[in-house]
Amino acid sequence: MKQTRILLSESEIPTHWYNVVADLPKPPAPPRGPDGEPLDPSAMLAIFPENIIEQEISAERWIAIPEAVREIYQQWRPSPMHRAHRLEQVLGTPAKIFYKNESVSASGSHKLNSAIAQAYFNKQAGIKRLTTETGAGQWGSSLALAGQMFGLDVRVYMVNVSYQQKPFRRSMMQTWGAEVLASPTELTRCGRKILADDPGNPGSLGIAISEAVEEAAGRDDTKYSLGSVLNHVLLHQTIIGQEAKKQLEQVGEYPDMIFAPCGGGSNFAGLAFPFLADAASGDKAPRLVAVEPASCPSLTRGHYAYDFGDTEGLTPLTLMYTLGHDFMPPSIHAGGLRYHGASALVSQLYHEKLIEAISVPQIATFEAGITFSRCEGIIPAPESCHAIRAVIDEALRCKESGEAKTLLFNLSGHGHFDMASYDKYLSGDLENYAYPEAAVNAALAHLPLGELAE
Ligand SMILES: *Cc1c(COP(=O)(O)O)cnc(C)c1O
Repeated sequence: MKQTRILLSESEIPTHWYNVVADLPKPPAPPRGPDGEPLDPSAMLAIFPENIIEQEISAERWIAIPEAVREIYQQWRPSPMHRAHRLEQVLGTPAKIFYKNESVSASGSHKLNSAIAQAYFNKQAGIKRLTTETGAGQWGSSLALAGQMFGLDVRVYMVNVSYQQKPFRRSMMQTWGAEVLASPTELTRCGRKILADDPGNPGSLGIAISEAVEEAAGRDDTKYSLGSVLNHVLLHQTIIGQEAKKQLEQVGEYPDMIFAPCGGGSNFAGLAFPFLADAASGDKAPRLVAVEPASCPSLTRGHYAYDFGDTEGLTPLTLMYTLGHDFMPPSIHAGGLRYHGASALVSQLYHEKLIEAISVPQIATFEAGITFSRCEGIIPAPESCHAIRAVIDEALRCKESGEAKTLLFNLSGHGHFDMASYDKYLSGDLENYAYPEAAVNAALAHLPLGELAE
């Protein structure tokens, strides 16, 4: 019988998170204030507790995972690795296709990995409440559950259009005890301003972040929690790649190429960074490919410049690939990939050509997701379908060339709450949308510090 699942025992849950900063050729560019001056990390104390800021700016290679966090990870970790034999067969490819299955967490995606850690550190710091944003609802539901586990109140600003389109993600958050508001709201200065200008504003991740940050900055008992982009979030996700390495080792494999969907960059980093450590030590160098939507192509078509992480301009300026902080996303179905920017670390690695990025059109991603689910059973999240598209394309290239590459991708989540999107695809109502060149250029005028002089 062929082995299709590669499992680890609970004792093999990693004991440390891997911090890629220790292995970067150049130190990361510092965050800056609106005046363009490097920001003192203490400026972040208004919205994050000190223990999280320490992780955010750390250059230590290994950071210990608290036992209380590992204990909760045990509910679903180590997550399984699968070999997609049936998909390989259907494609007729000599490539070997493996995937790490992050859809097995209670919230259905990799996001719970960081939510648990962030709730833990906030609890340790004496915080009582967390505010956050959510687009598609995966992050909001993960933080709702994590807050519940550590006795923290959670308020989620959910992008209005998703609030309307995905009522069951909202009920999921409420089931786990969180309060969910459709953003923009009348509760924050930023929300009121946007609604005054545009009463029907559908919301965006950038706006929801502004609202959550504004509230946290105004209350002593409340901090803000972000589901991607920041260094500490990427750090927490590195358990994925560490486990994946061990699992492949068990079957005597090492990947030639690694793919993951890329929104803010956390699940990509989580899977890829531990392999980048091998490249840094001169060992092996797999190709690492971030896959983003053609409709929101921050890495592949954005500007490498300092920009705000939110619409209102309340966050520090970070050097990253950006489509502009006032980006209004087209209504694509991979809600988790609709962010104007990308993680600073992922951006830097892309800029230094240590990783690759590609973009794929929406309809082709659903097509790939359906092929995958008919072979492997699991119905992937629309975000994950982006990686699957890229893997299938590579496997088909291998078929042409006869190369037996080993391919690995991150199945970042399941699509059980995204069936309305699948419906649209199946009924032929889905459209492709390529982000217009004019919008890419227009963003230039809104970059707070202009273009980088290099
Ligand atoms: C949020 C999300 C993503 C994208 O976010 P990253 O921070 O880039 O990982 C991808 N897949 C799923 C299932 C998600 O929930």
